[in-house]
Amino acid sequence: MLDNIKDAVKKFLGNSSYDKAVEEFIKDLQKALITSDVKVSLVLSLSNNIKQRLAKEKSPSVMERKEWFISIVYEELSKFFGGDRAPNVLPSKLPYVIMMVGVQGSGKTTTTAKMAYFYKKKGYKVGLVAADTYRPAAYDQLVQLGKQIQVPVFGDPSSKDAVGISLRGKEEFLSQKFEVIIIDTAGRHGYGEETSLLEEMQSIYDAVKPDDVILVIDASIGQKAYDLASKFHKVAPIGSIVITKMDGTAKGGGALSAVAATGAQIKFIGTGEKVNELEVFDPRRFVSRLLGMGDINTIIEKMKEVEDYEDLQKKMEDVIEGKGKLTLRDIYRQFVALRKMGPLSKILQHIPGMGVNLPSPSEDQVKLGEDKIKKFMAAMNSMTYKELDNPSIIDRSRIRRIAEGSGLTAEDVRELMRQYEATNKMLKTLKKRKKDLEKMFGNI
Ligand code: GDP
Ligand code: MG
Repeated sequence: MLDNIKDAVKKFLGNSSYDKAVEEFIKDLQKALITSDVKVSLVLSLSNNIKQRLAKEKSPSVMERKEWFISIVYEELSKFFGGDRAPNVLPSKLPYVIMMVGVQGSGKTTTTAKMAYFYKKKGYKVGLVAADTYRPAAYDQLVQLGKQIQVPVFGDPSSKDAVGISLRGKEEFLSQKFEVIIIDTAGRHGYGEETSLLEEMQSIYDAVKPDDVILVIDASIGQKAYDLASKFHKVAPIGSIVITKMDGTAKGGGALSAVAATGAQIKFIGTGEKVNELEVFDPRRFVSRLLGMGDINTIIEKMKEVEDYEDLQKKMEDVIEGKGKLTLRDIYRQFVALRKMGPLSKILQHIPGMGVNLPSPSEDQVKLGEDKIKKFMAAMNSMTYKELDNPSIIDRSRIRRIAEGSGLTAEDVRELMRQYEATNKMLKTLKKRKKDLEKMFGNI
């Protein structure tokens, strides 16, 4: 179902009319999201955000409008899942008590062990509490996993008192100065069992007062995620979410609904049955997967280049206006842009008022062979940030050091410095040249 989004992206990029393509894509996106688990109200609010941004913002000049549009879709979805930031998964205080909740089979017990292993590797003293008194084999399962990762498990297979075990387990570990305590609970899904499960979760929550409640959901859960998450959230406020079985075919679209229902952040994803198959959630990668997108990644890369390029353009405008000077760091970026976006003269063309008509001596000055660019970049790679930002401090001894560090001759480095000065000078003369031309031909 979510494969439809991937197809929608392809179709969109292949459509010859932009407006029609946008309209169709939004419809396809909505359809794909709805048929693959995401709640309708959420789909509508996402598509409204996208439409609003389309109306408000203007697409960057050098970027294809279609690519810009896809990047907006991508950004809006990523934002929803936490944006650029990887979640903070480390305990915000010590000791830290975590309560796991979720339906039977979602992967709670496995995830409990995986997380214990994760925190143990980070150097925390971790203890597990087996509070699933509902399924007879649950205690043994956790003990088995605990042995595997060498983490102690507290439990009492003869007792049915989940609240009592949780409390005793917590206190026992606290008294031994354990730092991260994870309580594995029961999940059941037989008819009429839901209410008793929720009551039990509430009782454990009230008694233990955990620092975090983690909802474990299976990637294939689908539409049910919203109601399920809301129900748990009411009895034990969900702070984090783990999506399991991401190694399967399901893409985890239901997670979107679980996030919407709780406002919680997705912290980890489970990618297999083994204890080390747990990854810190990466919003961008998750959305890429959701949208099905080799294509999108190239577009996002390009978007970053464009931002860099526009930044550089702005800086050059300032220098032309007599404000400041390019640094070597700018020159470095210019080389990177040069390789991807074309020559400096092309960048200049995008600066308002610096039209194509401007006869430009810069052509010769900046026309550098690939070889030379490689040398210059090597030299700049051997410079410190301080030198890149303040090239005037680069004296003879620094030149010698840079040459040695980059395997170049001192003359190569001096040539870079001359090129650097020439570029600044050239930009400064542009303003005057532009004025002269305006005098002769009127505004260009
Ligand atoms: P619980 O009932 O919520 O405690 O679920 P369990 O932890 O017992 O897991 C149920 C089943 O799902 C077991 O067979 C696990 O091995 C499997 N499982 C859990 N997490 C993952 C995962 O990330 N990937 C895969 N492939 N299987 C998983
Ligand atoms: Mg279990």
